[in-house]
Amino acid sequence: MKVAICPGSFDPVTLGHLDIIERASGLFDKVVVAVLCNMDKKPSFSVEERISFLKETTAHLHNVEIDSFDGLLMDFAREKSAVAVVKGLRAVSDFEYEFQMSMINKKLCPEVETVYLNTSQEYMYLSSSVVKQIASFGGDIRNFVPEAIHSKIVDRLTNM
Ligand code: ADP
Repeated sequence: MKVAICPGSFDPVTLGHLDIIERASGLFDKVVVAVLCNMDKKPSFSVEERISFLKETTAHLHNVEIDSFDGLLMDFAREKSAVAVVKGLRAVSDFEYEFQMSMINKKLCPEVETVYLNTSQEYMYLSSSVVKQIASFGGDIRNFVPEAIHSKIVDRLTNM
């Protein structure tokens, strides 16, 4: 069974994330979405909330599992017997950091490949931080986050 990991902060999950997860789920036998716990910046949503949003919005994808990790991604990948880490690329600006990370990860764990999926055009501008910024000013984020969790995200971000 070919297992892939989709790591990220998912603070909160956006339609851009979901697009990458859905496409990875079509390419691999199993996809583990790995929510990063040890974020430098204080997250807006707890790990439990981020996991619950992801579970709700990926319930239709039967080979997708949601988990969290702390520490080295490559240790988590080994633990899950993953063959690949799948990352989304939005712009050239994502590339430099991702390229460096993939080189380091290859040294740490040569058996795990890093696979990049290009963003879908309609999501190339989308990030969790953009969603948070717009919502905090009362803007409409309906086109940016999954419908099922829209009101929960708005409630939280407008009451911060
Ligand atoms: P964000 O930058 O939104 O905080 P994360 O750290 O949660 O993103 O990212 C998790 C993964 O999802 C990364 O591989 C990131 O490149 C990818 N990703 C996030 N948003 C998009 C998007 N709009 N299109 C493609 N990939 C994306």
